[in-house]
Amino acid sequence: MLNKTQNLIKYNKVLTKVISLLLVIVLSFIVTFVSCGITLGLKVVYNGETIGVVKSHKTFDKAVAYIENNTQHLKVGTSIDKASFGLTLTLADKFLNKTQLAEKIAENTDEIATANILYVNDKPIAYTDIKNVEELIEKSRCRYYIDGAENNAEFIDTIRLEKVFAYAKRVDGDKAVKEIINNLNVKTVSKVSFEAPIAFSTKTVNTSAQYIGYSKITTPGKQGLASKTELVETVNGNESSREVLKNEVLVQPVTQVVLKGTAINMATATEKAQAQSAGLILPLNTYVYISAYWGDGRNHKAIDFAGKRGTPIFAAQGGVVTCAGYRGNYGYLVEIDHGNGLRTRYAHCNALCVKVGQTVKQGQQIATMGNTGRSTGDHLHFEVLKNNVQVNPAPYIFK
Ligand SMILES: [Zn+2]
Repeated sequence: MLNKTQNLIKYNKVLTKVISLLLVIVLSFIVTFVSCGITLGLKVVYNGETIGVVKSHKTFDKAVAYIENNTQHLKVGTSIDKASFGLTLTLADKFLNKTQLAEKIAENTDEIATANILYVNDKPIAYTDIKNVEELIEKSRCRYYIDGAENNAEFIDTIRLEKVFAYAKRVDGDKAVKEIINNLNVKTVSKVSFEAPIAFSTKTVNTSAQYIGYSKITTPGKQGLASKTELVETVNGNESSREVLKNEVLVQPVTQVVLKGTAINMATATEKAQAQSAGLILPLNTYVYISAYWGDGRNHKAIDFAGKRGTPIFAAQGGVVTCAGYRGNYGYLVEIDHGNGLRTRYAHCNALCVKVGQTVKQGQQIATMGNTGRSTGDHLHFEVLKNNVQVNPAPYIFK
């Protein structure tokens, strides 16, 4: 009996020790869990996917109600599936709230999309589920920035996004939405600094020491350089105003000086008297203007009279026709030998009225004005030759 009692006391002592040990172990586990923030929660399994952990079933019911109250154009009959729940250990800060869970449910329901409504001046313009829509809008705002400038831009309209759940099939296509975003009206103000050339001006100096048509640059013009700062305002990339903030001349431009000939006739009095004594007359009764003088900056060895096709051309002096036909660059050409080493030529004619060897009187019609040979318009190219060399016709035909 004593032996039995002794054994029981011994057994109780051992049991107490074991229970105490277990208690210590369990307590230390709980202390560890709590101190690490680990707690019990419910994992939500929706449409076969674990979508998060909640504190209680009620969060799911609230999320469903939230979706139903906040879904745009939800098709009648769209149903949110039932969820199943399972106990789990979790960190307290991993619990989803109503709205977070609602987004997860929407992501896992084919008919519902988490979307944004894009409002322009409080008018809904697009439904979109593009994830980086805010970033795209920001890009659009800055789309007319000028490289290297200080830029600022703002939308002309009031742009606003509202996060909603939308019936998935009502969400607009990404391409269409991006186009809308990239066409939002935007005003951009850019402060641009740059260096710009300053055009040079040209000064003409006339000289009677050269024939009309003579032109020579005596001082070449040089562009200057300016340092400019301008405030450029654009609306949708189109410049709407520009304000010059700074315009500093760094290098002054150099004015170009051009020497221009004014002389028709530079013959001396003796030379002119000699020419006049040949008694030549103007080979035309009528012309529109003189299109080229002697010399004329391109070594033009004649005087050109521009006029109408078919205008009669007369012999400047009596003589014998030495050429009447087509001659390359001259086109239809008449040449008359007046004796004393003096000849005249009439080029680019339309039609000829004389033949080689024919004697013509002064003032007799020999041809009509035309545009044959190397010629860019109806005109008479009139040459005077003295001893087989072209000379300026002006002293011969102008008084
Ligand atoms: Zn000519």
